[in-house]
Amino acid sequence: MGAVINKQAFDVQAIRRQFPILSREIDGKPLVYLDNAATTQKPQCVIDALVDYYTTCNANVHRGAHRLADEATQRYEQARDTIATFVNAASRREVIWTSGTTESINIVAIGAAQLLREGDEVLVTQMEHHANLVTWQQACKRSGAKLVVCPIDENGELNLTAFGQLLNERTRLVAFPHVSNALGTVNPVKDLCQQAKAVNAWVLVDGAQGIAHEPVDVQDLGCDFYAFSGHKLFGPTGIGVLWGRESVLAEWPVWQTGGEMIATVTYERAIWGELPGRFEAGTPNIADAIGMGKAVEWFSALDMPAVMAHERALIESATEQAEAFEGLRIVGTARNKVGVLSFVLDEGHPADVGFLLDRQGIAIRTGHHCAEPLMGRLGVPGTARASFALYNTLEEVGALFTALQKVRNLLG
Ligand code: PMP
Repeated sequence: MGAVINKQAFDVQAIRRQFPILSREIDGKPLVYLDNAATTQKPQCVIDALVDYYTTCNANVHRGAHRLADEATQRYEQARDTIATFVNAASRREVIWTSGTTESINIVAIGAAQLLREGDEVLVTQMEHHANLVTWQQACKRSGAKLVVCPIDENGELNLTAFGQLLNERTRLVAFPHVSNALGTVNPVKDLCQQAKAVNAWVLVDGAQGIAHEPVDVQDLGCDFYAFSGHKLFGPTGIGVLWGRESVLAEWPVWQTGGEMIATVTYERAIWGELPGRFEAGTPNIADAIGMGKAVEWFSALDMPAVMAHERALIESATEQAEAFEGLRIVGTARNKVGVLSFVLDEGHPADVGFLLDRQGIAIRTGHHCAEPLMGRLGVPGTARASFALYNTLEEVGALFTALQKVRNLLG
């Protein structure tokens, strides 16, 4: 699998210099990029990996009988090994390339729709992103299974008592986020997996937000599926991963059919190929898989405890300043939180807050964050959300609140 990596000391300014976009200005003001839960920026090495692939060895993978095809295949499959090592997969066969978290979840749900029966239950939570909710609504509709939604508390934490009570012998599949994109809540994934496994349910973890903030060891977590996107992990858009436990994937119905996913084909029938190709019909997104492999290589070389400590300092500082900010209410105050400060201001609609912050060079996201039912549950139409990544600084957190003062003056 991947090469042994020397950990670099964590120096936020040195990190920032690797991200060309972070030195951009917006209307003459330095860009303060606080929309990392939507997508992260890319280090130069990832950009270079994409350019290098197209410049030196672009070819279709697996089927070519020439040098470029060999090199492209090698890079593409090496990237898969990098991912396998990164999440501690038991085998590279467990790593399926997808277009992102949404597609990863859909692959599982399309298969599940064939396996679920009337009377079966699928358990999700009130804090789902639409990708992990609508998908299960559809799978239940197609199969006749029932969708059960585990409540959250006012602070945005999963109600663990309810979770335990809702699990039963009819629960066939449990799906929940590692980290909530709208609130930053970190779920106790390992504990939830253990409970779900006690009733023999399959477990899917939506790792879109968790993967860049905590080390992920899929074997230790005990889930069956872990879904994540390259673009939230300093990699390209249009690429992601479905990690699936091999014994489960081996039994899972295929989703797309076509070239690359078969062993043999006659005019009458086809026999599916081996993992992971069985779930990768057609020409894959070769360049971006290589780019995502590079991003993970880059990320894996960082000192993760130092990264986590830095991110903790950012969210703690943001929370402290938010609590002291008159007329601001934090939405989502879980005890274990990463990366996200969601809030509403008395004076203004989140969309106005976002607009006025943008005028000051500060990029945040506003709205329901693809979690419309969650906003309803928390009694807000939407929030303003500042989301942090490892390249953000305490000064940028300060800049957010200085800018918010101006917003309040303008709106108040
Ligand atoms: N789940 C969560 C928790 C997310 O934050 C996102 C992206 N906002 C997704 C799923 C979907 O990811 P993608 O758009 O990359 O497929």
